[in-house]
Amino acid sequence: MVDLKLSEYFNDIYSVNEGIPEFEMLVNGEWINSDKKQDVVSSLDGSVIGRISVANHDNIDSMVNHAVEAQKEIEKMSLIDRIELLNKVKSEVISKKDELVNIIMIEAGKPKSAAEGEITTLIRRLELSEQDLYSLKGEFIPGDLAQDTVGRSAVLVRKPIGVVLGISPFNYPVYTSANKIIPAILGGNSIIIKPPSADPIALLALAEIFRKAGMPKGVLQVVTGSGSSTGDYLIENNQINMISFTGSTEVGEHITNVAGIKKLHMELGGKAPAIILKDADLDLAAKECVKGSLSLSGQRCDAISRILVVEDIYSKFVEKLKEHMSDFKMGNPIEDNSVNMGPLINKKSAERIDSMVKDAISKGCNLVQGGKYNNCYYEPTLLTDVTKDSIIANEETFGPVVTVIKVKDIDDAIEVSNNSKYGLDGCVFTNNISEAFKVMDRVKVGNMSLNVAPSHGTSNFPFGGIKYSGEGKEGIGKSIEEMTVVKTLIFDLSSFGLGKEYSGKFN
Ligand code: NAP
Ligand code: MG
Repeated sequence: MVDLKLSEYFNDIYSVNEGIPEFEMLVNGEWINSDKKQDVVSSLDGSVIGRISVANHDNIDSMVNHAVEAQKEIEKMSLIDRIELLNKVKSEVISKKDELVNIIMIEAGKPKSAAEGEITTLIRRLELSEQDLYSLKGEFIPGDLAQDTVGRSAVLVRKPIGVVLGISPFNYPVYTSANKIIPAILGGNSIIIKPPSADPIALLALAEIFRKAGMPKGVLQVVTGSGSSTGDYLIENNQINMISFTGSTEVGEHITNVAGIKKLHMELGGKAPAIILKDADLDLAAKECVKGSLSLSGQRCDAISRILVVEDIYSKFVEKLKEHMSDFKMGNPIEDNSVNMGPLINKKSAERIDSMVKDAISKGCNLVQGGKYNNCYYEPTLLTDVTKDSIIANEETFGPVVTVIKVKDIDDAIEVSNNSKYGLDGCVFTNNISEAFKVMDRVKVGNMSLNVAPSHGTSNFPFGGIKYSGEGKEGIGKSIEEMTVVKTLIFDLSSFGLGKEYSGKFN
């Protein structure tokens, strides 16, 4: 059994029962228990590493009521004090970095480099918080643009949206949550976070860091329990003003159907195409395609999940992909630190990938490498000549499968790319500028990359999907826009005795 090795600093967030740490929920500045618990299982070896509290309706009601009250307080806190608070959080995250990395490795099965990457990115995100504040600057609109507003002018300001509910996925449990918490607080909102049940512990630890750094009580609260049990009761709550959800299209669609009138920001699934054209640097493209497909075992919304190669260079490119398959070594990263690809989050995921691969094989693709699994450990797999009617050519993979499809030419590549319900990321590899521009312009996705695999990273470049990949833009300076509302303040200058000549101009 693997050990979380929590230091004294985190003593308040759990108690030990029969050797298993039982974690509590952060409600109004205090860690509280609930009557029901749920196991957290490490995908490394299937052992129970902890239990989380399953929120009941009373817990949810109390949390939302506290969030409403706390929002009135955080709104009064000056921006400079909000930034100062995040600076303190950053210092604490730096000092607790190794511990957070260890928790992520154990609960999410991530290799050390990936777990470290998640925390380093969090530190950078905290550092960049001040950038968010530029989005809070307002606008001035002169009234003499339209007959009916002559003599008036307007100032547009951004106000907090109120109570935000953030729901985050298992693949970046800490970073995705933090990328909602930071802009919510800077925007003057209170936020309730629901971490994924598969790997919620590192986020509970981060919430403790926020609490100890002096976060006013009730501004950040954490609700735990499976999505289906906290589920609709939480989502329907009409005191929640916004849901910022990152997760699967299926759950996103469910939330959209039950949420009622509130702002929805949806970061959902993807099926990123990588288009390889004949003028591409094939070595660069192959390296990026393998990395884009396999890193984090393919469990990334921005993963490359179909590689569309034009027929002129198809065979040559497949050879290059084969060479790069050995860039990834799969195994248990706790036992072997040369491993750079860990297990999938659970066995169900491995079984799902297995059935997709088998479907593709039955439809005539070529299994070049991999295709086997043991519990949560799915081998790095290369499928070539995948047919367009295969499930893996259409549905989000979320597993370590390099999926190669032959296309006729650039127009065919664009058509195949767009023949998808998803529209999150895409990329193209070519050194021909006009072809690059054509593909960048025509592929219908929210984020398109040239000569590099998609990667959302710190979200310095904001991202977000179209079609079934979602709605809204996440990232520095953009999430805060989603989490604030524009209020229009109209000033009738004639009431100050100013005439039409001053319509909108204070000169
Ligand atoms: P998921 O199954 O949709 O779960 C996401 C979150 O929703 C979890 O916290 C989950 O809680 C919760 N949830 C599930 N059912 C719910 C319900 N009925 N009501 C309220 N909450 C509910 O997604 P996942 O498997 O964790 O993550 C993988 C997916 O996330 C992929 O599709 C990936 O593409 C997507 N993703 C998108 C982005 C992006 O930026 N667009 C980024 C990362 C991931 P439980 O864990 O307790 O069930
Ligand atoms: Mg899931």
